[in-house]
Amino acid sequence: MQTTERPAPDTARAAAWSDLLRSHGRRVTKQRLAVLDAVDRRPHSTADEVLADVRTSVYVVLSDLTAVGMLRKFEPPASPARYETRTGDNHHHAYCVRCGTVADVDCAVGHAPCLTPSEHHGMQLLTADVVYQGICADCLAAGASREQAAPEQPSAEQPLPAGG
Ligand SMILES: [Zn+2]
Ligand SMILES: [Zn+2]
Ligand SMILES: [Zn+2]
Repeated sequence: MQTTERPAPDTARAAAWSDLLRSHGRRVTKQRLAVLDAVDRRPHSTADEVLADVRTSVYVVLSDLTAVGMLRKFEPPASPARYETRTGDNHHHAYCVRCGTVADVDCAVGHAPCLTPSEHHGMQLLTADVVYQGICADCLAAGASREQAAPEQPSAEQPLPAGG
């Protein structure tokens, strides 16, 4: 027996909310519809509860738009996934390992896969994921000024906390 907490999107209800929003002089936006839908399905919600619900729908929308190719998902090492609307151009990313900032890098070749593999294992290769990892200019500058202000001290070894 399957219980579905979330009913299928009710287009009739969404249309009714849209009419009501317009009658109050409000533009119909995804956020307003999502908030109305969340409160409607769970009366007496707190703002945090609405946020949690809308957050869930944001994940669903991101995943869906990525699946159809309207969004590109980039997963930096040890960092949450990032999404962008720049798709289909085989651009790459430069990732700062200190602050996590991500910058686009145009592909020097322009088409995928842009790296010649040493071995293709009989596969038809589609893409080569290129991630440049480094330290961004801001972090380099911050590191340089920190070292000038306070030269690194030899630190005594901290004992690890017991347990865990
Ligand atoms: Zn940085
Ligand atoms: Zn990008
Ligand atoms: Zn490339």
